Amino acid sequence: MFTFTEEQEMLRRAVREFVEAEVAPKAQEWDEQDHCPAELFPLLGDMGIIGIFVPEAYGGVGLGYVERVICLEELARHCAGLAITVMAHQLCMGGVMNYGTEEQKQKYLPDLARGRKIGALSLTEATGGSNFMGQTANGEWKDGQWVLNGRKCFITNAHLADLDLWTVVTGKNAKGRPELSAFLIDRGTPGHTPGRAEHKLGMRSSNTGDVSCVNVRVDASQMLEQRGKGAKVALSTIQEVGRAGMSAINLGILRGCLEEAVRFSNERIIYGKPLHHMTNIQFALAENRLDYETARLLTYRAASMKDKGVPCSAEFAMAKYAATEGAIRAAKRTIDLMGGYGVINEYPVGRYLRDALAGSTAGGTSDVLKVVIAGETVKQ
Ligand SMILES: Cc1cc2nc3c(=O)[nH]c(=O)nc-3n(C[C@H](O)[C@H](O)[C@H](O)COP(=O)(O)OP(=O)(O)OC[C@H]3O[C@@H](n4cnc5c(N)ncnc54)[C@H](O)[C@@H]3O)c2cc1C
Repeated sequence: MFTFTEEQEMLRRAVREFVEAEVAPKAQEWDEQDHCPAELFPLLGDMGIIGIFVPEAYGGVGLGYVERVICLEELARHCAGLAITVMAHQLCMGGVMNYGTEEQKQKYLPDLARGRKIGALSLTEATGGSNFMGQTANGEWKDGQWVLNGRKCFITNAHLADLDLWTVVTGKNAKGRPELSAFLIDRGTPGHTPGRAEHKLGMRSSNTGDVSCVNVRVDASQMLEQRGKGAKVALSTIQEVGRAGMSAINLGILRGCLEEAVRFSNERIIYGKPLHHMTNIQFALAENRLDYETARLLTYRAASMKDKGVPCSAEFAMAKYAATEGAIRAAKRTIDLMGGYGVINEYPVGRYLRDALAGSTAGGTSDVLKVVIAGETVKQ
């Protein structure tokens, strides 16, 4: 049975107080204005929220995935867009932390962990994010440097990133399959440019867009891990850092739906009584609670397995599936429960539904997660 320590409860309270004071009052406005509050990064860095799972030797707090999930859940409770901005930044940071050389870690991690620099992970291409090995961006070794070309799409922090982690095809392996390698590209490297910025249904307080490489020249020292290890770097980062993060974010959205449903059904008087006197409203509250508790248990169990070094790819896939689908269901249920008020933008639940829908594919669509879960189940 998973339980939180006293320190973890204290961390949650501290992050919650910060989010309620600094994030919640502005979240609606950021959504309306498509504004990503990246200006909060240095503050989030100083508070230890961004570098929570980075070792202290590299400027982080040296805690684990459970603490990371606590922070992301609390951020997403009021602003899923800010939470996905931090989460995507942590994907890049996690790649450097798990696969970087000592020199790369020293060079990049302190600024990333403290929120002085922003990171992105650029994997998805127009050929289909789920078809990971179908990517066509390529790297060629020429005159003592790697020359990178290609275009990535749907990249969180595309226009904000100081450091962009790319995977490209650098040849074929012994079986004739594409060999992927991973590279760290600094902002301002000639030929590396953000393209269109997406205007999204939800997660609007995050930045998402295209990034292109046109004859981008990088030294061999910018390769992460070894040549041909790009698929390992990217897939392990998505499967664990990414799915843990998206589970936590959807958990935050789910809690928002549950709390809004409780608040509204207490305050709304109908037939002379609070709304929750009707059985169908009680069912909606119970179902929101069940969705939240299920996702919560799966997410924190997977995070604690990760902290103990136990393999947990299937557990993160289950957590993300339960949290994503649960958040979409709970948001719709809460809108229904509220009657006409549910579609009035003064209430945040419409934003929660849009955020849950917009974030559902990041880190793997629900169908792809089911394929992963089934595969692991058959193996076990
Ligand atoms: C808000 C947001 C932020 C994102 N941030 C990033 C980021 O920072 N970095 C990054 O690299 N990418 C990012 N992505 C891209 C995301 O990872 C992809 O959207 C996702 O991988 C799905 O890829 P796709 O959109 O190309 O859909 P496709 O892969 O084209 O899928 C289309 C449909 O086919 C189904 N499908 C595909 N393959 C299978 C299969 N094998 N079995 C069953 N069904 C299947 C899918 O479930 C879906 O219904 C982001 C996306 C969004 C929306």
